[in-house]
Amino acid sequence: MNKQFKVIILGGGSGGISTASRLVKAGIKNIAIIEHSDYHAYQPAWPLAGSGAEKKEDSRKKMKKIIPSGVKWIKQKVTGIQAPERIIRLDNGEQVNYEYLVVALGLQLDFNKIDGLTDTLGKHEVCTNYLYDYVDYTYQTLKKVKSGNVIVTKPSTPIKGGVAPENSLFTFDEFFKKNKKNRPTLYLKTAKDLLFPVEKYRKQISKLINKKGIQYDLSHDLIAVDGPHKKATFKNLITGDTYDMSFDMLLVTPPMSAPDVIKQSSLSDADGWLDINKHTLQHIRHQNIFGIGDCTNLPTVKMGAAVRKQVPVLADNLVAQIKGKSLTACYDGMTACPIATEYGQAIMAEFGYDMKPKESLPIDQSKTNPILYYLKKRAIPFMYWHGMLKGHS
Ligand SMILES: Cc1cc2nc3c(=O)[nH]c(=O)nc-3n(C[C@H](O)[C@H](O)[C@H](O)COP(=O)(O)OP(=O)(O)OC[C@H]3O[C@@H](n4cnc5c(N)ncnc54)[C@H](O)[C@@H]3O)c2cc1C
Repeated sequence: MNKQFKVIILGGGSGGISTASRLVKAGIKNIAIIEHSDYHAYQPAWPLAGSGAEKKEDSRKKMKKIIPSGVKWIKQKVTGIQAPERIIRLDNGEQVNYEYLVVALGLQLDFNKIDGLTDTLGKHEVCTNYLYDYVDYTYQTLKKVKSGNVIVTKPSTPIKGGVAPENSLFTFDEFFKKNKKNRPTLYLKTAKDLLFPVEKYRKQISKLINKKGIQYDLSHDLIAVDGPHKKATFKNLITGDTYDMSFDMLLVTPPMSAPDVIKQSSLSDADGWLDINKHTLQHIRHQNIFGIGDCTNLPTVKMGAAVRKQVPVLADNLVAQIKGKSLTACYDGMTACPIATEYGQAIMAEFGYDMKPKESLPIDQSKTNPILYYLKKRAIPFMYWHGMLKGHS
């Protein structure tokens, strides 16, 4: 195997594949992607699959069909990054070298940070939409639950798909209205101190939650789960008190962090995230390293929509760096959070680093609209597979 590459991209997810396609289009040769998974998934489809509005099988494709032609796929797990020596270590014991590196490793799901959770996940009505293999169990449980408490949780850490829990809450509410005589009580227990970071959308989400009769607590963190006894333990982050709640269905959004391989490298910031310039996406300490997506410390909501805006900036700046030119492309933090408010209706928050709404459509995107639902369910996935991953804007 060739062991010396012009550009190595770590991770074949949304950021890695889209960046590779752009670099190929820009004429860069000798690129490799290191990715251990056999499949590439469109993860935003999972909450809809958990509510029965999508088939999870439609959310993924074989990795070998997604890797851009001309790019070498190294099907290995990255186990070490030695930036000073420009070496990447692989889990088969081999190592490869790069001139330029793109880090696109996504983030790590820390289910083990909640006591008892890993033992009971996928059993005893304890569900998550954050793993492909568990999404069906969410929908099975939803159909089975008859009454009592349905609890949806959100951790204090940054998460990907920041509004996935709200998507589930709102579609669960619709599901119960249509299919059950006695609606279970729906709860949102979030460790965050706000429902949403941007005021315009926060107001609308709050209105919807109240209208649907959903109970919610801010700054309440899930800390333990006892599946067999159907008991969830929460900590009130303001008072420090802990309390138990019984559940008939528990939908967990796990705590998340940067991948260990980044935390253990010299590339991370104090919190473990890849330390990059928020406008150029170049590493703060290494000019030949760039980063994209969920693994970075960009101060925006971690979404595929944010990655879509980062890809052209990263590709343009990396090509400029290779050619010895100055970096002129600038990422302004733009991200988008679509929320299905019911089957067939959605809102879509869009904003940048300044946390001010910057909407793309000539409608008020904070108001529920069938066009926004169509975009979320059909148009955006189509653009993802046929546009973004192929290196188009
Ligand atoms: C439930 C859910 C709902 C979401 N909803 C939305 C939404 O509505 N809208 C939206 O825009 N976004 C949404 N997202 C977020 C979106 O999917 C991510 O933000 C996006 O995929 C980030 O791209 P990335 O390239 O940074 O990471 P990923 O796409 O996760 O890719 C990371 C890749 O790195 C690979 N990798 C990790 N570690 C290693 C290693 N050590 N060695 C080799 N390879 C490795 C992984 O296998 C993976 O392929 C959602 C996500 C989830 C899970």
